[in-house]
Amino acid sequence: MRLVIIGAVAAGTSAAAKARRNNEELEIAIYEKDNLISYSGCGMPYYIGGQIKSMTELIPRDPAFFKSKYNIDILTGHEVLSLKPENKTLQVKNLLTGKIFTDHYDKLIIATGASAVIPPIKGAKNPNVFTLRNIGDMNKINSFIQNNRPKKAVIIGTGFIGLELCESFKNIGIDVTLIERLPQVTPGLDSDMAIYVQEYLEKNGVKVLTKANVSKITKNNVILDNDEKLPADIVIMATGIKPNTDLAKNAGIELGITGAIKVNPRLETNISNIYACGDCMEHYHMVSGQPVYRPLGSTANKTGRIAGEVVTGENNHFRGILGTGIFKVFELGIAQTGLSEKEALEQGYDISVIHNTKISRPEYMGGAEMIIKAIANKKDAKLLGVQIIGSDGIDKRIDVFVTAITFGAKAEDLIHLDLAYSPAFSTAKDPVMYTGMILD
Ligand code: FAD
Repeated sequence: MRLVIIGAVAAGTSAAAKARRNNEELEIAIYEKDNLISYSGCGMPYYIGGQIKSMTELIPRDPAFFKSKYNIDILTGHEVLSLKPENKTLQVKNLLTGKIFTDHYDKLIIATGASAVIPPIKGAKNPNVFTLRNIGDMNKINSFIQNNRPKKAVIIGTGFIGLELCESFKNIGIDVTLIERLPQVTPGLDSDMAIYVQEYLEKNGVKVLTKANVSKITKNNVILDNDEKLPADIVIMATGIKPNTDLAKNAGIELGITGAIKVNPRLETNISNIYACGDCMEHYHMVSGQPVYRPLGSTANKTGRIAGEVVTGENNHFRGILGTGIFKVFELGIAQTGLSEKEALEQGYDISVIHNTKISRPEYMGGAEMIIKAIANKKDAKLLGVQIIGSDGIDKRIDVFVTAITFGAKAEDLIHLDLAYSPAFSTAKDPVMYTGMILD
């Protein structure tokens, strides 16, 4: 049996490695149009900011590794041009030689990921304007910085990529202005939490403009539609991503309402023997039961592994996501899971909401305040979502909330959790337990 996978970053390589572990007989080939594979896109801002010194730390594996360890053939510089499900073939172009050839599959996994969205702004293609999606983009940003020594950056978009890059630029001495077209930064958070993030950014010397629309980018400026001119030697468009679905769509594979590839819990598309995983697929939200598009490396790795199991006959399926995310900007950590208040109200829930400010561990052990916002369904007291901001210990708390929501906990259940305590790590009554005491 021949398994062909398209895309060799997080999802594609996870799928291949799992399929090989399950089945030693399978022929496995991956086509990847880029020249680099299996890299940590999540580490790229830290390389730009100088915290990661060597690029090989971001790209630990190459095709030779996959061949020798897993007997998997990864053909880089090969773009899949089209699929013909009726005879299980695909057309592939060798981008180096220009040669086009046909391959066949018995099972096919689409792991084509996503691409950066570039809004139609005049000047968006200027040589000082960049997106950050892959190692090639990262290298372009780095060589621009090395060759031009920019002093001022404008970052358009205040999601996690925009804010991580904001920290990186400040670390290497570049002044940052952040531009957001919405009335708040960090669009995934509710506005009453996002305001703390904005204040923190401003305290750290970042100029933040919300409700701001860019009309034009020139060699040294970003110009807003109110004619305000912002000096910009380098501009980053961190304005979102969209799933790479052309190949699938042209082959008759159904897309979901979010525009990503529609799959069932076994990651099967509407065409038999074709599966999808990672950032190109639509996700199922475990709380709302609705289709959503929340492309993240955590989910890409997980769905890749599940796709590898399913194609080798294992009885596994993907249970969906909570939209859990965490990132930091300077010393501030920002985390969320489940539904925000805004999302819960849009979905028609009658909700209870609390804000709970507690220290992560005693001050004598270096603890710091964290703000927890929690949302529960009034009808059955079940937790719907949580957002946390703080500089210490938020990763542990968000993951406890993730676990609680996943297993359908009610707010009162939090008080009964037998959480670990020592002053080095938490307080005797943990902030998670306090949340349960005041949320009903
Ligand atoms: P991709 O990484 O997009 O890979 C898909 C591959 O398919 C690409 O290499 C592409 O060239 C190839 N391809 C597409 N079409 C074809 C074709 N027709 N033929 C051949 N090859 C094709 N996630 C987190 O969970 N936590 C984080 O902290 C985090 N930080 C991030 C920071 C940055 C700066 C970025 C950009 C992303 C971050 N992510 C993070 C997201 C994470 O990197 C992605 O979710 C993950 O890379 C998705 O993996 P994927 O394999 O599905 O898709």
